[in-house]
Amino acid sequence: MLKNDQLDQWDRENFFHPSTHLADFARGDLPNRIVTGGSGVYIEDRDGTRLLDGFAGLYCVNVGYGRTEISDAIAAQAQELAYYHSYVGHGTEASITLAKMILDRAPSNMSKVYFGLSGSDANETNIKLIWYYNNILGRPEKKKIISRWRGYHGSGLMTGSLTGLELFHKKFDLPLAQVIHTEAPYYYRRPDATMSEEEFSAHCATELDKMIQAEGPDTIAAFIGEPVLGTGGIVPPPAGYWAAIQDVLKKYDILLIADEVVTGFGRLGSTFGSQHYGIEPDIITIAKGLTSAYAPLSGSIVSDRVWKVLEDGTDAFGPIGHGWTYSAHPICAAAGVANLKLIDDMGLVENAATVGAYLNAQMKKALAEHPNVGEIRGEGMLCAVELTADRKSRAPLDAGLKAGPSVVSGMLKRGVIARAMPQGDIIGLAPPMCLTRAEADVIVNTTADALNDVLPTT
Ligand code: PMP
Repeated sequence: MLKNDQLDQWDRENFFHPSTHLADFARGDLPNRIVTGGSGVYIEDRDGTRLLDGFAGLYCVNVGYGRTEISDAIAAQAQELAYYHSYVGHGTEASITLAKMILDRAPSNMSKVYFGLSGSDANETNIKLIWYYNNILGRPEKKKIISRWRGYHGSGLMTGSLTGLELFHKKFDLPLAQVIHTEAPYYYRRPDATMSEEEFSAHCATELDKMIQAEGPDTIAAFIGEPVLGTGGIVPPPAGYWAAIQDVLKKYDILLIADEVVTGFGRLGSTFGSQHYGIEPDIITIAKGLTSAYAPLSGSIVSDRVWKVLEDGTDAFGPIGHGWTYSAHPICAAAGVANLKLIDDMGLVENAATVGAYLNAQMKKALAEHPNVGEIRGEGMLCAVELTADRKSRAPLDAGLKAGPSVVSGMLKRGVIARAMPQGDIIGLAPPMCLTRAEADVIVNTTADALNDVLPTT
C-alpha cells in the first residue's frame, strides 16, 4: 500500500477534483480525504476516521455502504459479460430486466426507459428528445426550456444552463439562450410575508404564466423541475404548487420533465416524488438511487404520449441519432437490479418515510428555538436547517461569517457529514435510507452541538 504522504502528493499533483477550489487544493489549504471503506451509514478513511455519512455521498448511496447483494451482482455480471452495447436492438438480461423493474414502479402512463450514465446526460437526452418531438410535430419554434432559479439539473452545457445556481453559470458563458428561469417555489423567501402557502403557489404559477405569455407560448417546449428542490437548498414545494404549475403547462401544451435524480426510488418516502405530489410528468429523470451509486447509471423514463411521437418520427425519418457507448451498461444494470430488489427487501421506502419523519421532527425539537434557525424543513429522508440573522425579518447572516460551512465543519469534527448547500447558510442532510432512529439522534445532537459552537445562544 502507498504511504499517505505519497498519495497526498500525487493527489495534489495529478487529480483534477470537481467542485473544488483549485488553488486552495493545490496549495494544501484544503484538506483531502482518501476514503477507503464503508458499512451501513458509515464511511472510513485512510487515517482510520469513521464518519456517519449524513449526505449518503451526494444523496445517492440510498441503501448504505458495503451491501454485498449489489457487489456480488456486479462481480457476477462482470465475469459473465462485462460489456455489450445496446444499439440497434441489442441488450442484456440485466438491462431488459431493469427497464421492466423501473416501469413497474413508475407512474402508469410511462412507456420506455432510455439509459445513460449520469443525471446530467439523462437531462441532456431529455432536452434532445423534446426538440426532436417538436420537430416531428412540425413545431420547430417550440424549443425553449423553462427551469427554476435554485433548480439543479446537472453540469453539462444544456444542463448547467438549466441549473439555476450562479456558481454553475459564471465564467462558463452559461446559461445558453434556449433556457429561461422562473421563480423558485421557496416559501421561506416569499416576496410577501403575509402570503399563505397556497397564495405563494398561485403567485409562482402566475409568474410562470406571465413569462410564457411574454416569450410566446409557441416558443416554449418544456418545464423542468425537481419535486423537491435539492441542491438549491432542500426545499419541499408549498401546498398546491405542482397542481397550479401543471394547470399553466397544460394550457400551453408545454411538456413537464420531473427531475427525480434525488427523489427517485424512495428518498421522499414514496417511490417517486411524482407520486408523492401528484405530478404527471411527460418525462422523468432518474440516476443516483437507481443503483445507490454502486455503479454509474441514469435513465430518462418517457411517457406514452412522447414515445408515440418518437416512434412515428423514426418511421418517417429513420433511426434516432442519439446514443452513448455505455447506455444500459450491463454491469451498471446488474447493480440496478440488485439495488431495487434490496430496497424492497429492506423496506427502505417505508423506512425513509418513518425514520425521515423522525429525523425532521427531532431536528425541530432540538433546534426550532435557536435564535439563528430560520426554518427547518424536509420531506422523507431529506432535511435542511436554514440559518438567519433575524428570525422575524428572515435576514440572511453576513456571508463573511460563513456560518453554514462552519457548522458543517464542526459536525465533521464530531464525526457526522452534512453538506453546506451552495447558496445561503443552509445545512443539508440526506442520509442513506437505511438510517435508524439512533443514528438520526446522533445527527440531530451533532447538528445542535456544532450550531451552538458557531452561534452560541448565550
Ligand atoms: N438532477 C438533479 C436533481 C441532481 O441533484 C443532480 C446531481 N446532484 C443531477 C441532475 C446531475 O446528476 P449527475 O451529477 O449524475 O450528472
